[in-house]
Amino acid sequence: MADPPIYLDCHATTPLDPAVVQAMMPFFTEHFGNPSSLHQYGWSAAAAINNSRETIAQAINAEPEEIIFTSGATEANNLAIKGVAEAYFGHGKHIITVVTEHSAVLDPCHYLESLGFEITYLPVQADGLLELAALEQAIRPDTILVSVMAANNEIGVLQPIREIGELCESHEILFHTDAAQAVGKIPLNVRDMNIHLMSMTAHKVYGPKGIGALYVRRRNPRVNLAAQLHGGGHERGLRSGTLYPPQIVGFAKAMELAMATMATEQVQLGELRSQLLNHLTQLSNMHLNGHPSCRLPGNLNVSFRGVDAQALLLGLQPMVALSSGSACSSTSTAPSHVLKALGHSDQLAYTSLRFGLGRFTTAEEVDQVGQAVVQTVEALRDLSSRL
Ligand SMILES: *Cc1c(COP(=O)(O)O)cnc(C)c1O
Repeated sequence: MADPPIYLDCHATTPLDPAVVQAMMPFFTEHFGNPSSLHQYGWSAAAAINNSRETIAQAINAEPEEIIFTSGATEANNLAIKGVAEAYFGHGKHIITVVTEHSAVLDPCHYLESLGFEITYLPVQADGLLELAALEQAIRPDTILVSVMAANNEIGVLQPIREIGELCESHEILFHTDAAQAVGKIPLNVRDMNIHLMSMTAHKVYGPKGIGALYVRRRNPRVNLAAQLHGGGHERGLRSGTLYPPQIVGFAKAMELAMATMATEQVQLGELRSQLLNHLTQLSNMHLNGHPSCRLPGNLNVSFRGVDAQALLLGLQPMVALSSGSACSSTSTAPSHVLKALGHSDQLAYTSLRFGLGRFTTAEEVDQVGQAVVQTVEALRDLSSRL
């Protein structure tokens, strides 16, 4: 049998850590109870959920009651943005976000525009970073929310979350951050960073798919939120629906592992990424997208001028699992809105590959992929020069 493809698509999703699978297993079988039930099966499920909530809260310096479990970051973003809009429209109808956000932030904003809210979509600089002065200028007396992602899912750029939090605090505006890519990869402290709402998801940090959470601050200030799912009143009435113990336990285990390994993993991924970049810099007309150092340690996003990314991906089959742009919008053939926001032409945006290295990536794999990309790019350029 052929070797399985080398997986370098960790921004789309990550493989489960074996320790996460182990932790989840008993909750499919012996501890199958509904955590709301008042008997032993329910109690053991509820106890596991309480412990998990505590682990996740601790990882970001929150209180356990401030963690609202959701199906993932898409739902958390929807709850945060629509929930704040609905709870605070009496104070104002203006929201500020950024053009490079994930569609799970942009689309709820578009939806709110259709209801009469006004949204400012701030541009980014050529390196993908938001300019703080532009953010400050965009703030109006009727601004109720600022939503800026912590780490970008395509170019890995880390926004100045702490500074944005300070700015929002001084203007008494709520601050939401989509931390789907950042949580467990870089330190996040919701108190120190003045974050009021933060979206998380387990499957980007070696946990299961279908589970995430929204951090919702309970004091200084207490954030009001309108529920988007109504029913049995679970999660303080903010998100009804029977809690799913295996996923929640897996999420907590993933967070626990991430916190324990974050420092060493950052170094390890940084080294692997430099190794990959060393291969790619052999190519002429190669362009690194996004800030060179202010980015997730496992991320590289590179354009190869004149080489169609789809042709390149096909040329790398079946050896490498990689993606161009964002997996979340990969059904569309439009050029990446993130790369366009950096000032790239459609043409350059169509020549970009996103490398997502992860916990299980080896130096040998990086060498194999680096060599294969260089060979394939050279072959494609050679071919097009002869056409
Ligand atoms: C993956 C991702 C999401 C969506 O998360 P799901 O849990 O898959 O819904 C949202 N925002 C960012 C930045 C992401 O990377």
